[in-house]
Amino acid sequence: MRGDVTSDASEPPHEDAYPYPPVPDEPAIAAVRQRLEKVGVQPFTLPLGVDIDTWLSNGRDGWDGYPDIRSGKMDAETCGLAAALSHDNVRLVTGAQVTGLDRDPDGRRIASVTYRKGSETVTLTPRLVALAAGAVQSAALLLRNGLANASGQVGRNFMNHNASALIAYDPRLVNDSVYQKTFGINEWYLSDGHNGPPLGNVQLLGRVVPKILKANVPALPMAACRHISRHAVDFYAISEDLPDPESRVMVKGDDIQLIWRRSNMAAHHKLVEKMKKTLKAAGFPVVLSRLFDGRVPSHQCGTAHIGSDPAKAVLDPDCRSFDHDNLFVTDASALPTSAAVNPALTVAALAMKAADAIRKELGA
Ligand SMILES: Cc1cc2nc3c(=O)[nH]c(=O)nc-3n(C[C@H](O)[C@H](O)[C@H](O)COP(=O)(O)OP(=O)(O)OC[C@H]3O[C@@H](n4cnc5c(N)ncnc54)[C@H](O)[C@@H]3O)c2cc1C
Repeated sequence: MRGDVTSDASEPPHEDAYPYPPVPDEPAIAAVRQRLEKVGVQPFTLPLGVDIDTWLSNGRDGWDGYPDIRSGKMDAETCGLAAALSHDNVRLVTGAQVTGLDRDPDGRRIASVTYRKGSETVTLTPRLVALAAGAVQSAALLLRNGLANASGQVGRNFMNHNASALIAYDPRLVNDSVYQKTFGINEWYLSDGHNGPPLGNVQLLGRVVPKILKANVPALPMAACRHISRHAVDFYAISEDLPDPESRVMVKGDDIQLIWRRSNMAAHHKLVEKMKKTLKAAGFPVVLSRLFDGRVPSHQCGTAHIGSDPAKAVLDPDCRSFDHDNLFVTDASALPTSAAVNPALTVAALAMKAADAIRKELGA
């Protein structure tokens, strides 16, 4: 992991520094950081799990939004799966879809798991089950199989992020950066700057290259896309989505219905306005923004959340189902709230906490 633990004033204290120094700002981005500092904002250095030299030696592209297809980026496969598969008691079945989980007669345990792979249907009888199909599919599997839902909370409290992309254009700027994404702004993370409620986080996006711009604004001629991309810098603003029992995943026959009731939008609009004002003060004459709609549920979570009260939560604080002793849910479903930051490391941290409980359970 690379970063600087001292640069983000909103971070809780760390025991140790990151093992490697931050990924450096590219020159065009260093200049943008300086422009923001000049108008009183303190960007922080993003912690990043990327070996930048290895990544760039395999091609000059950004990494944001892509899995590690060519080595250099830490992701679930390179950091987790590869290590798991080095044990000879671990087997990975790919291209399989879990379709059923069945209880034992007294309902306290999951007795079997069924999956489909091609034309084959396989039933396993595991000692312990860790369900990690993501916030939508895990909830759907639990609902379809009538599991873990004594609280009535499975599928509820679906959260996503309130997120907007911002493009700050300045014809004098030449943005020749490749990866761009090295700093963020938490100036308004804990409060709006006037002791008001928190607004959220802003971070650089991976480069909005001409093709991405064209895909999002098809009416824009390609030459204009190329010009804007070369003279603009791209940001991502995220605000918390708050848990709401009526925001939910439901199953309707073979289909899944997603009802997302946005919350906290006043804070999000304020965050976007603050960032636009800041960028204009920093010399960007044109700043455009676009709110991500429900078709971009990339940070979904909350549909089987942890808690201390079995009447109100699906999972205990170790991510174990209150209803079934050998069932853990170890994905973003377990999150009780959706902080205004990218969720993957929190999802991983909760899964590691669950893994400790599982290790104890198995006596390993
Ligand atoms: C484009 C994009 C960019 C993102 N960028 C970032 C970022 O920069 N930082 C960050 O922190 N987060 C990022 N996220 C969010 C992050 O990827 C998710 O929050 C995280 O992956 C959620 O983890 P999860 O374990 O809940 O689900 P997932 O990672 O979605 O894992 C669920 C797995 O279960 C499998 N599955 C589902 N149903 C079944 C079934 N029935 N049977 C068998 N397998 C099944 C799926 O195929 C999948 O492999 C991004 C997401 C997207 C889409």
